[in-house]
Amino acid sequence: MKYKTLKGLQDILPPDISVWQHIEAAARGIFRAYGYQEIRLPILEATDIFIRSIGETSDIVEKEMYTFPDKGGRSVTMRPEGTAPFVRAYVEHHLYNNPSPQKYYYMGPMFRYERPQAYRYRQFCQIGAEAMGVEDPKLDAEVISMLAKILAVIGLERLNFEITSIGCKNCRPSYREALKVFLRGRLSSFCGDCQRRFDSNPLRVLDCKVPECISARQGSPPVIEYLCADCKTHFEGLEHNLNLLGVPHTVNPNLVRGLDYYTKTAFEVSSESLGAQKAVAAGGRYDGLVDEFGGPPTPGIGFALGMERIIPLVKDSLKPSGGPDLFICCMGREASEEALSLAEQLRTRGLWVEINYDNASLKSQMRKANRMGAENIFVIGEDELKNKQGVLKNMTDKSEININLLSDEFIKAMKKEK
Ligand code: ATP
Ligand code: MG
Repeated sequence: MKYKTLKGLQDILPPDISVWQHIEAAARGIFRAYGYQEIRLPILEATDIFIRSIGETSDIVEKEMYTFPDKGGRSVTMRPEGTAPFVRAYVEHHLYNNPSPQKYYYMGPMFRYERPQAYRYRQFCQIGAEAMGVEDPKLDAEVISMLAKILAVIGLERLNFEITSIGCKNCRPSYREALKVFLRGRLSSFCGDCQRRFDSNPLRVLDCKVPECISARQGSPPVIEYLCADCKTHFEGLEHNLNLLGVPHTVNPNLVRGLDYYTKTAFEVSSESLGAQKAVAAGGRYDGLVDEFGGPPTPGIGFALGMERIIPLVKDSLKPSGGPDLFICCMGREASEEALSLAEQLRTRGLWVEINYDNASLKSQMRKANRMGAENIFVIGEDELKNKQGVLKNMTDKSEININLLSDEFIKAMKKEK
């Protein structure tokens, strides 16, 4: 019987994994500079957490969740996103008692039962950030700027940063009514899902990806014009601070996020290089969510970026490459034992050292070292054993130096190279 990965899931193997690690390391570096600390949360959560926060009428809850009863009959869900579990943990551990702002980040798999296509998987990985306790739009701008920095250090270019404000519980009802007035006359031009959403959650009509709906909603009233004074000032503050920080952006009044918990600031980053699945990262404010989860009213803002969508955009020149620091070739039993113990000493000192394990000819050992991309090669044969000395060959510049068969000498020689 042949086993395969499930549809929409993928194995990540070397050498691709090095690009993942490169992005993760770059993100960690930026997070540190902004004072974000890592959190690791479970993959399974109680289903209610997602229904309550993301919203019953969202695509995620309506059709994309991996939900099943556990052996105790409780409904559990494999997390489709990171913010709801984060807020659950924030409230559960009373993190709101710590001084504000609190800044956290996470990296890990999310699960959505979607129709798999290019850059759209059923298990995908997100890097996300959440910042709690600050209402001021300086924080919104800082979060977006941080996201821009992460994308910039990994070499992503030509990205569009779109921002909007989707208002708060005070001004959204009047926008909702205005939108309904607009939609009512042309409802028959929308897909079945949107017709249903008209009553339950008309804002979601603006997020529908069906081409007929995209054209039918042309000319819909822009949410920005319906903001209350507080949301309007907040949005102006966001724009002001983004300009101050030099983050290029455009205002897209039709940007609506697919999750119900957002308030005020919402943003999305997209790349034209990706085609249909062009959103690489998205986020927004969720000032009511902690409250909703039973904690004290606490503002929050966050984003998540999709690893699978940024991996193909990483420039080849920025992809990590390279093989072992040293490959030790050996001729004969005694030499192979010398190679084994020398390699062990060098590995203890942090070098990546490979040796040969069989009786292959010197030529084939050299070929192997080359194929692995070894930076240096050292051959141990009878002479080297006798003289306790040999030639360290640098494979990049082809230079050769005589070197004693001592781990310190190797370390010294390689340090000089770097
Ligand atoms: P889309 O409109 O593409 O479905 P979304 O609005 O559902 O995206 P979010 O919930 O905002 O996505 O998730 C943030 C990011 O996670 C997205 O911008 C995208 O990069 C990534 N992402 C979301 N769903 C998937 C998926 N099924 N496969 C791969 N990446 C995904
Ligand atoms: Mg989606």
